[in-house]
Amino acid sequence: TSYGFRKVGEDQKQAMVDTVFHTVARRYDLMNDMMSMGMHRAWKDAMVSWLNPSRRPGWSSLDVAGGTGDIAFRIVEASRRNAHVTVLDINGSMLEVGAERAAKAGLLDRLNFVETNAEQLPFEDETFDAYTIAFGIRNVPHIDRALAEAWRVLKPGGRFLCLEFSEVDMPVLEKIYEQWSFRVIPQMGRMITGDAEPYQYLVESIRKFPRQSEFAAMIEKAGFERATWRDYSGGIAACHSGWKL
Ligand code: SAM
Repeated sequence: TSYGFRKVGEDQKQAMVDTVFHTVARRYDLMNDMMSMGMHRAWKDAMVSWLNPSRRPGWSSLDVAGGTGDIAFRIVEASRRNAHVTVLDINGSMLEVGAERAAKAGLLDRLNFVETNAEQLPFEDETFDAYTIAFGIRNVPHIDRALAEAWRVLKPGGRFLCLEFSEVDMPVLEKIYEQWSFRVIPQMGRMITGDAEPYQYLVESIRKFPRQSEFAAMIEKAGFERATWRDYSGGIAACHSGWKL
C-alpha cells in the first residue's frame, strides 16, 4: 500500500498518523459525528463530567492530542469559564481548526494551543491539576513515554483521564461494531476525503490497542494510583482514570 501501515516501525508510524490528520483536519469534526453516529459527543460529555473540573480560578488542565478542541471546550464550560486549558497536539492543522472554533465561541482567553509531541512535554514538573487525552493515546508511538510525561507534569493530587476506543464486552454488539468499523468507516472516509486508507489504519489501530484491564496496568506502571475505568456504550469506548498522589 502507499502508506505501508502494516510494516512500519514506530517512528514512521508517527509520520503516517500526522499525514492522516493533516489530510482530514478540516473535515475532522464532521467525520467524527458520522463515524460514531454522534456518540463521541456523549462519551466526551461523560469524560468531562467524571473529571468534574474545578471552578477555582487558576485551576489548569492539559488536553493532550487535543485536536480541534472538543475536550478543552467542554472543560472550560463545565468550570463556568474559570479553568484554563492548554490544548496540545503534534499537528498544527488540527490546532488551527481548534483555535478558529475557540475564537468563534469566545473562549480564547481560557485556552492556549501548543504544537508538540505528547512524548516530550515542554512544561516544568508539577504544572497541571489535570491531564486529559481523548482518542489520542492510541496514535502515540511510545505510550509509556506519554504516560511518564503525564505523571511528571501533574501536580501531586492531580488527575489523569484517558478516553479511548476499547474492548466491546457484548458479543452481539461486537459483531455489529466490527462490520461498522471495518466496512462502513473506511468507505465513509473515502467518500469524504477521497481515500479509504487512512481510516483503515485508524480502525486497525483500535484493534491493536490494549484492553481495559491491560491499559489500567500500564497507567499504574507509570506511577498513577487508584487506576479505574468506565465503559461507555458497552465498551466501544472506555475512560480510564488515575491519580498522582
Ligand atoms: N482529542 C480530539 C478529539 O477527541 O476529538 C482529537 C482526537 S484525534 C482522533 C487524535 C489526535 O492525536 C490528532 O489530532 C493527532 O494529531 C494527535 N496526535 C497524534 N500523535 C500525537 C503525538 N505523538 N503527540 C500529540 N498529539 C498527537
